[in-house]
Amino acid sequence: MGKSITQKILEEHLAEGKFEPGKEIAIKIDQTLTQDATGTMAYLQFEAMGISKVKTELSVSYIDHNTIQVGFENADDHNYLQSIASKYGILLSRAGNGICHQVHLERFGKPGKTLLGSDSHTPTAGGLGMIAIGAGGLDIAVAMGGEPFHLMCPKVTKINLEGKLRPWVSAKDVVLKVLEVFTTKGNVGYVFEYGGKGAKTLSVPERATITNMGAECGVTTSVFPSDEITKQFLKAQGREKDWVEVKADEDAEYDRVVDIDLSEIVPLVAYPHSPGNIKTVKELSGMTVNQVCIGSCTNSSYKDLMTVAKILKGKEVHPSVSFVISPGSKQVLENLAREGALTNLLSTGARITEPVCGFCIGNSQSPQTDAVSIRTSNRNFFGRSGTKSAKLYLTSPETAAASLITGKLTDPRDLKMDYPQVEMPEKFYIDDSMIISPSDTPEQVQIYRGPNIGEPPSNPPMPANISGIVTIKVGDKITTDHIIPAGSRMKYRSNVPKYSEFVFEIVDDTFYKRAAEYRDKGKHNVIIGGLSYGQGSSREHAALCPMFLGVKVVIAKSFERIHSANLINFGIIPLTFKTESDYDGIDSGDEIQIPNIRKVISKNEPLIVKNLTKGKDFEVNYELSERQRNIILAGGMLSYIKNK
Ligand code: SF4
Repeated sequence: MGKSITQKILEEHLAEGKFEPGKEIAIKIDQTLTQDATGTMAYLQFEAMGISKVKTELSVSYIDHNTIQVGFENADDHNYLQSIASKYGILLSRAGNGICHQVHLERFGKPGKTLLGSDSHTPTAGGLGMIAIGAGGLDIAVAMGGEPFHLMCPKVTKINLEGKLRPWVSAKDVVLKVLEVFTTKGNVGYVFEYGGKGAKTLSVPERATITNMGAECGVTTSVFPSDEITKQFLKAQGREKDWVEVKADEDAEYDRVVDIDLSEIVPLVAYPHSPGNIKTVKELSGMTVNQVCIGSCTNSSYKDLMTVAKILKGKEVHPSVSFVISPGSKQVLENLAREGALTNLLSTGARITEPVCGFCIGNSQSPQTDAVSIRTSNRNFFGRSGTKSAKLYLTSPETAAASLITGKLTDPRDLKMDYPQVEMPEKFYIDDSMIISPSDTPEQVQIYRGPNIGEPPSNPPMPANISGIVTIKVGDKITTDHIIPAGSRMKYRSNVPKYSEFVFEIVDDTFYKRAAEYRDKGKHNVIIGGLSYGQGSSREHAALCPMFLGVKVVIAKSFERIHSANLINFGIIPLTFKTESDYDGIDSGDEIQIPNIRKVISKNEPLIVKNLTKGKDFEVNYELSERQRNIILAGGMLSYIKNK
């Protein structure tokens, strides 16, 4: 039987186990990336491991999230990251050089390699034919230390692209179509592998837009073949030597095969508050728009922004619309400037930010009260923009550009102009001066630590029994943004005691006080969740800060992959209801006991939860490998590694 791309790359990197979907495997990691919001904690954990130099082929530390620098905290973090990179053999991409995924695609990604990143959109690099996986910062620290990365061997879905996109329809519409077909649930443990004749019509940045938002479906990663298109892109980046062909065998077998005809896709939009809420733009057209934001790691490539510049040439932004562009990288911005396209955008009335995450993470450009904000980014979760009452609609750059001209959500085909085809340049203008190499004399490098940078908190081993309180009960699709907010709170990422004060702030701003009180009285905190608990960003603080507050157990209907792994890494056991309706019989404030939890987990036996308040027992499931059970028992990954 022939092999898929996924199977080929994973098998070439296997360190433990074999390619059997559903079984735990470990793979060698060739490259890692971190961004500053998750990076400081990852590097504090790396330091705690006592290793003198990273053991990967390439590790890059990007500064792209917290760049507003209101107060000293972010600048201190940047200095810490720069000194760490210099000392431990890591490249540093400075603030202003670009969004990690865009820069990694341009300058570092290599077909056939593995990449582990402390950001859930790391699969963007799958557009180059890599297996690129998002994980928590602690997993990245361990991979930088040369240890393999453990994951459940994925099943593979082949998405067979046929036909060719019609004018005014672009890669974002393709991935919104994928979200309509697969939704945001039920894809955990799968890889989306793209192929078919239609794939050959898409450039690398277009492919990367599609692999980027596979994260919203909850898949392990998404991957395209590496072919002549990939070779041309790498050549234009001066990196032709990094190209290898990566393709599936003709007779490869897949767990699922779904056909999508590119020529049948129309402009689509994800409406609030989930990227899986899909309608056609036509269905919602005419809605008044207050803000248009173009950028983010999904749609900020040269091709995206050149297309927008050509659409907007000679036009003005509608007076009631606020228009911001965050270019994906310094390279994108410089190439736009050299082509004269930047002038088009400025003349139109665009507010151009430095090339960073910016509006996407909600730490700037928050829209007005009750705003309708059209964005080319990948997440429209409640509160993500920094304005709770705002409604975020995710669209292609073409739809965003059309809407900012008319002031209403507009199908770009209604602009009645020729679609501006943008060819990829044969050679990009390249300037890597904002990428700093590590020191040749690492022993002389002093690590910079500002007052905002604290030690990572430790966690005691799992106790013999859980005796606790349901501190909060939440519903379905709770994202990591709900658990620990980003935006203006992100500057506390390196200070866990301070950042913990904002856990569940968006859902219930009394949570912190309750949880801290119970913890200080020696009670264990228990969280009850619904379906897809922990979806969204990979931020490990959504596990680390609850751990600091004494949370030992989360019981949910289902978990998203990265968050479940993060909970385990921080010694919190993710449990699922054996009978889903037991969720209905439990309330916030209920007193909970789980007798003999240590003994039961170590023997991998069924686990019974006692609800003392309701006088009812119920069974919960935990599907953990022996290694994961040992991590939980040790109180988390760091203790597990130290005691190994
Ligand atoms: S999703 Fe937004 S915040 Fe996250 S890496 Fe991409 S641009 Fe940055």
